[in-house]
Amino acid sequence: MSAPNIETIVSLAKRRGFVFPASELYGGLGSSWDYGPLGVELANNIKQAWWRWAVYERDDIEGVDSAIIQNRLVWKYSGHEDTFSDPLVDCRECKTRLREDKLDRDAGGRPVCSNCGSTNLTESRAFNLMFRTTVGAASADDDPTALAYLRPETAQGIFINFKNVLDTSRRKLPFGIAQIGKAFRNEVTPGNFIFRTREFEQMEIEYFCRPEDAPRIHQEWIDAYDAFLDSIGIRSENIKHYEQSKAELAHYSDRTVDLLYRFFPEREDEEKQFDELLGIANRTDYDLRVHSKKPEDSEGKRINPDSTEDLSYFDPATNERFYPYCIEPSIGVNRTLLAVMMDAYEERTNDKGETRVMLKLKPELAPIKAAVLPLAKNKPEIVEMAKAIRKDLQRTMRAVYDDTGGIGKLYARQDEIGTPFCVTVDHESLEDNAVTVRHRDTWEQERIAVDALASYLNDRLSK
Ligand code: ATP
Repeated sequence: MSAPNIETIVSLAKRRGFVFPASELYGGLGSSWDYGPLGVELANNIKQAWWRWAVYERDDIEGVDSAIIQNRLVWKYSGHEDTFSDPLVDCRECKTRLREDKLDRDAGGRPVCSNCGSTNLTESRAFNLMFRTTVGAASADDDPTALAYLRPETAQGIFINFKNVLDTSRRKLPFGIAQIGKAFRNEVTPGNFIFRTREFEQMEIEYFCRPEDAPRIHQEWIDAYDAFLDSIGIRSENIKHYEQSKAELAHYSDRTVDLLYRFFPEREDEEKQFDELLGIANRTDYDLRVHSKKPEDSEGKRINPDSTEDLSYFDPATNERFYPYCIEPSIGVNRTLLAVMMDAYEERTNDKGETRVMLKLKPELAPIKAAVLPLAKNKPEIVEMAKAIRKDLQRTMRAVYDDTGGIGKLYARQDEIGTPFCVTVDHESLEDNAVTVRHRDTWEQERIAVDALASYLNDRLSK
């Protein structure tokens, strides 16, 4: 079982402090969200799991963290200034602003307003998605020399550092560069909770290789991502691969495969249940070329007269110099968090006939690993022992102490936020120096000696 729809997760997220609407006390700001105490832990755990998988567990990837605001020329030569746009239409009937490429068509192939069903829409026009800003204290709003953008992807920060990383790390092809960071897009139709927002976070890898190896390595990354999604608890039955048609491909891409997640299980048409979680593109040598000073067009003119570097690669084994191809797997942190929560969601009926919400997160991702609960909060020795256990566990894992309800209620609260273990201190604990460990997924209980508790839990958390 997984969540029946995104709304179920929206209400759980708000109720328990994963995600709140941003600026809510001023009426909110369309599709902006703040991550609360549990949401920030879950997002951090997702980023850590990804970084470990992408960087530490491989021996061919380095990390970077580039600036959000770069020289405007980065976005000129990458092509974003001219082409990073969505086709915008307005419905003349209900005045809704829509993204034309996402609309259903009528029998005659005309786009249909998703709000009122009318086909009376304006001509489509390109709307650039980059957020503009001005740099410098004295700059006027319309000063073109002060114009800058908030990055719409983290990828370009990697390409412009290709030579820096190559020179300092002494890497040889194939190798990759990973980055996690915020990206900003002035989306025409944001929505569906954290699925599409104007500010979001990406985890991107640019993996550089010889051109002839690119098709094979592209496929290897697709397979690797299937395994990664499985490792963070996203079941394969909720994932679909989508091969982009030639018409859909971005201008730089030779082949792109999207991995879609079943974000909309309530939709009747199964095709429509799935939407993009990540994309894996073969970006060819496009980006390294356009940021290089040497390449020329068919008339012998430099395609980039502003660049001061050449981002080609010299292969000492073959004595060749060329621009490496690049495979780019790009996944959103926020969409991953939503998919992880949807997949982990379960409702279970207890022996009193009550429905309980469970979040069966992988222990590695759970915001809280262990909750230490005193069975009797009016007994100072039990409270003291529980607090001491929490303090000890806190050295190696995120552990909390909670005495704000009866034990049944405390268990239910921890199940709902995905805490894999509850540790209960009772009267007997004072005698035998042991506690009861309750397992989230089975509701089974075990008696464990306090001295062995941390290693018992840590063993099971790493599985
Ligand atoms: P879409 O077609 O959904 O607009 P895209 O193909 O433009 O997405 P990419 O440019 O490939 O997206 O970005 C890589 C990843 O970044 C996406 O797969 C998604 O996980 C994430 N992402 C992109 N745009 C957004 C957004 N507006 N809000 C949240 N995540 C996003």
